[in-house]
Formats: sequence, structure tokens, C-alpha cells
Amino acid sequence: MDNQFTILVIEDEDDIQQLIVYNLVKAGFKVLCAGDGEGGLQSHVANHPDLIVLDLMLPGMDGLAVCQELRSAHQSDIPVLMLTAKGEEEDIVAGLAAGADDYLPKPFSPKILLARIHALLRRSRPSSPDGHDKISFPGHHLTIIPHSHGVFVNGVSIHLTHSEFLILMLLAGKPGWVYSRQQIINDIRGFDYSLTERAIDVLISGLRKKLGPAAPAIDTVRGVGYRFSAHPG
Ligand code: CA
Repeated sequence: MDNQFTILVIEDEDDIQQLIVYNLVKAGFKVLCAGDGEGGLQSHVANHPDLIVLDLMLPGMDGLAVCQELRSAHQSDIPVLMLTAKGEEEDIVAGLAAGADDYLPKPFSPKILLARIHALLRRSRPSSPDGHDKISFPGHHLTIIPHSHGVFVNGVSIHLTHSEFLILMLLAGKPGWVYSRQQIINDIRGFDYSLTERAIDVLISGLRKKLGPAAPAIDTVRGVGYRFSAHPG
């Protein structure tokens, strides 16, 4: 099967790793495993997986450090699903700030794990083949190519996580239109995705940082939410 996706599972607890592997293999995925962060990063470089399931609590280098390393040193936009020990907002916010695309608190049902993985893979490989269109905002020196998830500032490609990309697409799709945090959550969440309003603020702040000179394109509307400003200044 040339259409088979490879998932890298970075998890140190054997029973949880086995549970994940069992369900992924049964669902038709190719699966690679690592028991710590360093091994996971090596496997990522060597095997080019399509998605990473990353435990937050790992011996040595933890999940946050692995995620930051992937995004910065490796310049990778691979979808990352972070496993958190509990539904703690602090863990979730830290994971999203480190560049994770989604998170799942333990214990989780294998069905939800698979649903999240399928949702992330769909986002990273959009199915529409007619996507050679691009959206340009010359005033912001910003170009978005929806089909390939490409974002360019001053002609230079920038790497966004899928969540950041979806927010940018939502806001830029209707310049001037104000979206509340809840509307953004409703638009970008996948199946059973319990994003908080504070997590949206974290994602927006990460997005602005990456947009650099194009950051003013995203306005904070005090007490309401965010909007894409059609014209700079
Ligand atoms: Ca662990």
C-alpha cells in the first residue's frame, strides 16, 4: 500500500505503548516506537513518519522539549498529538505553545485516539486536488497557499502548526470580520476537542510570533476576539 501512513509513537510506559500500537496496527497504520525523546527524534529523522503521538511525561527530554526541537531545530511541521497525564489546562496550554497540534488526556479511548489521528492527517493532507490557488495580502507581505498549507511572509516560507494554520485561514478568509474565541474554537476543533479560550490566545500569540512583520494582520478586538485586518496600519 503506497497510501499507508506511518505513525511514530513516543511513549515510555510499555502497557500504554502496546495499547496504542495494537490499535494503530489494527487500523492499518505502519507504526514506529520510541521509549524516550532522544530516540523519538532520531526515528523522526531516519524514518520520516506522517504523524507523531507524543507523551508529555518522558524520562530525560520531556514531550514539550521534543516538540520544540521538532519545530525549531528540525523545522518540521509534522502533526503532533500530545498525550497529557490529565486534562490539566497548564499541560494543554504548554503543549500547544510548544507546537503540538492536538492533545489527548490519559486515560483515553482507542476510538478517540484514532479519530484524532485521522482528523490530523486529513488536515495535513487536504484532499482537494484543485488547490493551486493562492491568497495574497500584499499590504501585509503575506501569501497563503491553502492546498499545500504554505504561508509566506516577504516570500519566505514560515512553518505553522495545523492549528495555527487553521486559525489564520479562518481569520484571513473574511478580512475585517470579528471572531470570538468561542467561534474560533468551534471552527478549528476536531472530534471531542476540548480547547479552551486561553489556549486560543496561546495559539494566536504563537501565530503572531511566526508571522513576524505580517503579525499586525491579526488584530485583537478587546473584549470580543480577533480579526484579520484587511489593510495594514
Ligand atoms: Ca510517560
